[in-house]
Amino acid sequence: MGRDGTATEHTATEHVDVLVVGSGFGGSVAAERLAQAGLGVVVMERGRDYPPGSFARTPAQAARAFWAPETGSYGLFDVWSFRHFDSVVASGLGGGSLIYANVLLRKDEHWFVERQQLPGGGYESWPVTRADLDPHYDAVERVLNPTPYPLEHPGYDDVPKARAMRTAADRLGLEHFLPPLAVSFAPEPGARPGIGLPIVEPDHGNLHGATRRTCRLCGECNIGCNEGAKNSLDFTYLSAARGHGADLRTGHEVRTIRPSARGGYEVDYLRRDPAPDGPPADCVPVRTLHCDRLVLAAGTYGTSGLLLRSRRHLPGIGAALGTRFSGNGDILSFAVRTKDAHDARPSSVAPSRGPVITSTIRLPDDLDGQDHSGCVPPGRGGYLQDGGYPAFVGWLVEAAALPRDAGRAGRFLLRQLAAHAVGDPDATAASLTGLLDDGVLSDTSLPLLGMGRDTPDGVLVLRRGTLDAEWSTAGSAQHYARVRAALRAVSEALGGRYADSPHWLLKRVITVHPCGGAPMGRNQREGVCDAFGEVYGHPGLYVMDAAAMPGPVGTNPALTVAALADRACTRLLEKRASGEAASPDAPVPSDAPVRVLDTYTQHSSVQFTETMTGDCVMGASDPRAARRSPAREPLRARLTLTIDDIDEFLARPDHPARADGWIEARGLGGRRPVTDGEVHVFGRGRTPDHRELRYRLFLTDDTGTARTLIGVKDLAPAGLGRLWPATTTLPCVLLEGHLSANEDRTEGMADIVAAGTLRISPPAFLRQLTTFRTTGPRAAATLARFHGFFLDELRRIYGPARLLG
Ligand SMILES: Cc1cc2nc3c(=O)[nH]c(=O)nc-3n(C[C@H](O)[C@H](O)[C@H](O)COP(=O)(O)OP(=O)(O)OC[C@H]3O[C@@H](n4cnc5c(N)ncnc54)[C@H](O)[C@@H]3O)c2cc1C
Ligand code: SF4
Repeated sequence: MGRDGTATEHTATEHVDVLVVGSGFGGSVAAERLAQAGLGVVVMERGRDYPPGSFARTPAQAARAFWAPETGSYGLFDVWSFRHFDSVVASGLGGGSLIYANVLLRKDEHWFVERQQLPGGGYESWPVTRADLDPHYDAVERVLNPTPYPLEHPGYDDVPKARAMRTAADRLGLEHFLPPLAVSFAPEPGARPGIGLPIVEPDHGNLHGATRRTCRLCGECNIGCNEGAKNSLDFTYLSAARGHGADLRTGHEVRTIRPSARGGYEVDYLRRDPAPDGPPADCVPVRTLHCDRLVLAAGTYGTSGLLLRSRRHLPGIGAALGTRFSGNGDILSFAVRTKDAHDARPSSVAPSRGPVITSTIRLPDDLDGQDHSGCVPPGRGGYLQDGGYPAFVGWLVEAAALPRDAGRAGRFLLRQLAAHAVGDPDATAASLTGLLDDGVLSDTSLPLLGMGRDTPDGVLVLRRGTLDAEWSTAGSAQHYARVRAALRAVSEALGGRYADSPHWLLKRVITVHPCGGAPMGRNQREGVCDAFGEVYGHPGLYVMDAAAMPGPVGTNPALTVAALADRACTRLLEKRASGEAASPDAPVPSDAPVRVLDTYTQHSSVQFTETMTGDCVMGASDPRAARRSPAREPLRARLTLTIDDIDEFLARPDHPARADGWIEARGLGGRRPVTDGEVHVFGRGRTPDHRELRYRLFLTDDTGTARTLIGVKDLAPAGLGRLWPATTTLPCVLLEGHLSANEDRTEGMADIVAAGTLRISPPAFLRQLTTFRTTGPRAAATLARFHGFFLDELRRIYGPARLLG
């Protein structure tokens, strides 16, 4: 039994050549390439599979279509709401391809910058070029078979929004084209397009064993294609991977990873049971698998979260972990009530007709060396695309407009009353027609999507074990101003009114293209992994998904994610062929002793936030001397300390707590997030009667250079009068690099960048007392245990007779 009384499950330890975590654009490519080369591949995907016809369409189905394991819902849409932005990603066999808009574009050649200054400081750097990727773009395109929307083919020629986008671009002098879409418009490549025709399957068939039909223009691509017309990854790469022997496991969620003592990696995972009467999420047993090579392809949030959660097992993992996050410049707006240029009559754009995206307008980049159009100022490049939606959304649009169109609603009510009075049975149809205003609003209004090269200045961190993102649109203000100007120009060129998405009122965006978090870089300071996705210092561990992007792709990113994974697999297989083993092969016999981990029990946690102010001197090395220096500059910190498990905290002699938050100093380039932090609360001191409060905080300065802030309060036995100054004053030094616990204790190991002192003021201390929070069972007892521990330690140091009797 587990500690909480839940059952633990005994499973034989399993060994595989390669474990691929996640089945999106990176994971599917990796599974197919590696299985095809003869490696034993297991794919673990947390979501379920979605054959054609299984995507939610009714309100009851939609209610369970979200990924919310805490409520027992394991659906397709994983919605994140961070402090300054929102995001949607997918969960299912095929990852983002199940709900994406099918656009497969290559990243522009000049946008693979080698070292480009960013607007707010720091730089963007891609360790690969377009020439490196072109053969891999070719390879992926051969499988996903993207083709421009066949606008001139009978049957597919009546898609007004595609023509409207072309018209707008022509009027504005902007570059326009029909982007390649991974959708089957014809039964097989080269055949004549036609609506609703059975699609000819490749030799490996499809893993669902389902009949697919060509696109019928329903605009439902973002909620899953029930026709099977999208060339999504389940029909293509994953079906081929299975044909080569890959084992595709749905409902398998990987929780932590660690290097194994016998080489390779051990991976802990849960099996999610979608049955309504399956075990509750907090009682699911944890199983462990061993692999020689581990490919992380769980997407930006999945992979970054896994690495952050497993960080303590991955010594020396790059300081860049969590960094270079961006939303790929995504922004949504609307062209409302478009009109004909000649007679100013409403002009249909029919957003529900056609695939979700049909057209692209390209905004040049300063790097392209092209002339800029008058409607867009110079800047970093971007793309605009038409948006579409299912027909039922059109009804919602009309309904949502009614309260604002009081005249129309009032006329409807009056007509109904009059008809009732005179007993006119035909009046309802007529007044309903008036009520819907001929559906003009939804028929003449078009969602417009913008994206581009925003600033990759975001940081992903863990808070209370949950992933959080520190990123806002503020750092990319120039990008958003430019793209919105272009979107406005397009709306007006269509004779419509420009409208921001309501989110923008709060300067928020919803990104569907998150990038970064485990970026590739030329060295360990710059990236978590190299240009082939292999994690620095951890051979055989790969990042092959959008988390590896060192900046925004600028265009829709899926093709670049897939091409980079294809390139990484080529390198992995070359290394294997040259005999460079990822780890000594140590297959475990199937009757080996069972390895069982505890279930994930619900721990009791404590959390509080402290705010400290003080000063520091750049270049100084002694905090005491720095206090008198005329070169002092302000130093501030706000840290949230989290004790995830009060039992473990009390049991360990160093009493560790996690620290999240920020440090602010001019010499750091402003306020910088703490990407990983630990505080030892009353750990062992220099002698048995000393205690130590030791802070070790990782951050990067505004140039991306790694720094560690070490602060130590040495608490020596003394009278009560020393209690306040000793416990509220933190002498600290800022060191070069990210230093492990052993390194930061070694005198002279690291270069000191600055020294200073942080203090908690009496008002800040009072505020801190209001910030205590607990989670888990027995909240009051947990808090009492923490405070009891704290007071006991103070009594030990400052004397029982003098402190609280
Ligand atoms: C609505 C929408 C429209 C889009 N349209 C386009 C478009 O037209 N063109 C384009 O290029 N891009 C588009 N995108 C973006 C594109 O889908 C992503 O860039 C792409 O899917 C990223 O690929 P990936 O391999 O990094 O991750 P994903 O494709 O997101 O795959 C990650 C997979 O890992 C699984 N996973 C996560 N955590 C775990 C875990 N712990 N254990 C096991 N499995 C796990 C997830 O369930 C998921 O299936 C769109 C996205 C959305 C949401
Ligand atoms: S428009 Fe409809 S049929 Fe065509 S790909 Fe999209 S969801 Fe499938």
